[in-house]
Amino acid sequence: MPELPEVETVRRGLAPSMEGAVLAALELRRNDLRFPFPAEFSRLASGRGITSLSRRAKYLLIDLDDGMTIIAHLGMSGSFRVEAGAAAETPGEFHHPRSKDEKHDHVIFHLTGANGPARVIYNDPRRFGFMDIARRADLASHPSFRDLGPEPTGNTLSADYLAERFLGKAQPLKSALLDQKNIAGLGNIYVCEALWRSHLSPVRAAGTLVTKAGKPSEELRQLVEAIREVIADAIAAGGSSLRDHIQTDGSLGYFQHSFSVYDREAQPCGTPGCGGTVARIVQAGRSSFYCASCQN
Ligand SMILES: [Zn+2]
Repeated sequence: MPELPEVETVRRGLAPSMEGAVLAALELRRNDLRFPFPAEFSRLASGRGITSLSRRAKYLLIDLDDGMTIIAHLGMSGSFRVEAGAAAETPGEFHHPRSKDEKHDHVIFHLTGANGPARVIYNDPRRFGFMDIARRADLASHPSFRDLGPEPTGNTLSADYLAERFLGKAQPLKSALLDQKNIAGLGNIYVCEALWRSHLSPVRAAGTLVTKAGKPSEELRQLVEAIREVIADAIAAGGSSLRDHIQTDGSLGYFQHSFSVYDREAQPCGTPGCGGTVARIVQAGRSSFYCASCQN
């Protein structure tokens, strides 16, 4: 499952080709991905101008000039590649190499724009991704979005907000942070990294970060800051490696090598002066990586 920074690097990679272009034809090569495509999907989208490409949680939003928005989720193995003339590239940085096998090309955006014709191709071997189309004005009540908390990148994610959500909760911090109703788009990797940066244990009860008066503790303020930082750092690094790696097939880049605790079981903790070792435990079926010496 791609994490939010990966989806954001995909968005940034696709935007120059898609924004301002005309979606001359939307070609569907099958009837479904994870779910059936919406009725008349191709007819509704074909011929429309693309006004902007944005993101909510791990969903890409392709805004059309008639008030409709295409919603796309990469699932487990989805990727887009851009073909313009003889050049082809797969925007974004992924933990695992992406397929370019044409038999898994399921959706093709045929574009015409200022830079000439281009094709944006959605490839998805496992077909856990999906696409939908909805009125932009209705997105807030769409089933994919109506229960989502604020983005971990925006100003709406504040310590005061999380204090309200965590008040009285015995739930472990790890689970509370993965709950998409609390924060949208935060996944396992970056929860582990943010907890390490803020020296908080994944097993600690979420409610212990809230004062009796219902206010955020200093630790909760530091956690919110750490969440913002790990996401921003990953997006910035993904964006910079994206510029450098055009066409380097299967490049793993920043995302694979830069984690402090994630996937680093039994390695030394990087906190200066700590001397501890990264441990792995399983919480709600997911691995948590943390240092028991400096995360309490
Ligand atoms: Zn440590």
